[in-house]
Amino acid sequence: MQLLFADQLGPHFDLGGDILLPEVKSQFSKRSYHRQKAHLILYAIRARGRDPRVKLVEFDSYRAVDAGSLTKAISPTSRPMLALAKSLDLDLSEPRGFCSSRDQWLANKGKGLLLETFYRNQRRSLGVLMEGSEPCEGQWNFDHDNRKPVPKGGLGIKHFEIVENEIDAQVRKDLDQLEASGQAHFIGEDGPRKFAGDRNEALKALEHFIEHQLPVFGPYEDAVYDSEWVLAHSMLSAPMNLGLLDPMEVVRRVEDAYRAGHAPIQSAEGFIRQVIGWRDYVWHLYWEFGEDYEGSNYLEANLPLPGWFAKLQASQVESRCVSHSLESVSKNAWAHHIQRLMILGNFALQRGLNPRALNDWFIDAFVDGTPWVMPANVIGMSQYADGGRMSTKPYTAGGSYINKMTNLCGGCKFDPKVRVGPNACPMTAGYWNFLDANESKLRGNPRMNQVFAGLSKLTDRTELVIQERARKKF
Ligand SMILES: Cc1cc2nc3c(=O)[nH]c(=O)nc-3n(C[C@H](O)[C@H](O)[C@H](O)COP(=O)(O)OP(=O)(O)OC[C@H]3O[C@@H](n4cnc5c(N)ncnc54)[C@H](O)[C@@H]3O)c2cc1C
Ligand code: SF4
Repeated sequence: MQLLFADQLGPHFDLGGDILLPEVKSQFSKRSYHRQKAHLILYAIRARGRDPRVKLVEFDSYRAVDAGSLTKAISPTSRPMLALAKSLDLDLSEPRGFCSSRDQWLANKGKGLLLETFYRNQRRSLGVLMEGSEPCEGQWNFDHDNRKPVPKGGLGIKHFEIVENEIDAQVRKDLDQLEASGQAHFIGEDGPRKFAGDRNEALKALEHFIEHQLPVFGPYEDAVYDSEWVLAHSMLSAPMNLGLLDPMEVVRRVEDAYRAGHAPIQSAEGFIRQVIGWRDYVWHLYWEFGEDYEGSNYLEANLPLPGWFAKLQASQVESRCVSHSLESVSKNAWAHHIQRLMILGNFALQRGLNPRALNDWFIDAFVDGTPWVMPANVIGMSQYADGGRMSTKPYTAGGSYINKMTNLCGGCKFDPKVRVGPNACPMTAGYWNFLDANESKLRGNPRMNQVFAGLSKLTDRTELVIQERARKKF
């Protein structure tokens, strides 16, 4: 009998024969998950349990799963689950659910673990968007055609919506009960389920993305717009991370749409780079960097997450960009990449929040958060806590970047151009204050020369630093 893990729910994880699928509700009592994330996980497990070959069994904890008639499993995605599978002495097959194996990673990673090298090698070895040995339309990367702000009035794209069913109703009842009995404490709002939780929904979500969003994915992938929370993003990370969609089937479908003339190269390439590039890259880095990586804290950032941040209380924040992203997480358990990296992560980096606490918060608060996806994204890319193993310099920016890529500054009480005074933008002032505070650790980095040259020219540096270190409200 196969032991199936909760992120192995699609057909590509089915080894044939009987399956045991554990439902472990105690995981919700150990951490403060977002309510909609708990809902999606339980829904997905129970929906998979409708298959007559699947025996759905409730356990108090994963430790209570005993070998019994279990003989085999597909290698799970995290160290704790791998340890469990090994303790049960199961016959473990190679991991699935990614576009490359560990051996391919070792052969493809290139010098210095650069994403770009890995990505190009992936394109070649998978034969994706290639014309012989050359990339389609002669370029590997079309980013310069992208990065457009959303035009006034918005994109007006209808995003994929779920029709809930009787499993959702039961899940909602069970979660209400867990919360009422004090066995679980959730963050965020409950609400209609928004992400695909079974194979059928996942396929529909993929088709919806291809038809409505892919054609404009590239140009607007970095933009934020106040009244459209999804824009042209696919909402596919959750079903891919649950194992409902094989990332290669998603990639092939996108490539077909490009070759059929339905989507331009800058959208197809922009999206495919995220999946065969970034997604596989952070998965391999999880294993490459090892367990201690999550404790990295190069910038010695030790502040706890403010209560309003941890509990997603958007109304407690005056900075419109931070408030808007927190509101999206509270309402949807999701925000898109730029909100995660350049707003929420940027805020945490500038304000010295502890990277491990932030890593855990991202896992709990986001519907697609998993142990493997977070360390490279949060500890590495977003917080530079690894001192540059993953990114060549910290991802931080002031209000002018946010003003360019969003329509949020207009309605904000702060002014993105002002760094000192009552309407000084916390992101702009926070940017300079961050550089001032971390100068000794970052100055040796040649990629930071220009920003430090800018810092040394600031005439109001002392005033700014005093203002930001005393700042209580954001
Ligand atoms: C601080 C931070 C935290 C993040 N946390 C998560 C997370 O918990 N789970 C998660 O799947 N992604 C995470 N990401 C990556 C990315 O933000 C999400 O994959 C994306 O926003 C999910 O929405 P989507 O499916 O609509 O993505 P789209 O914009 O449609 O992108 C397509 C796909 O590319 C993949 N992808 C793109 N970038 C990454 C990346 N850096 N790492 C992994 N996959 C990537 C995802 O599978 C995603 O579905 C994080 C990024 C940052 C900077
Ligand atoms: S002015 Fe500053 S704080 Fe306000 S939305 Fe713009 S970047 Fe954010």
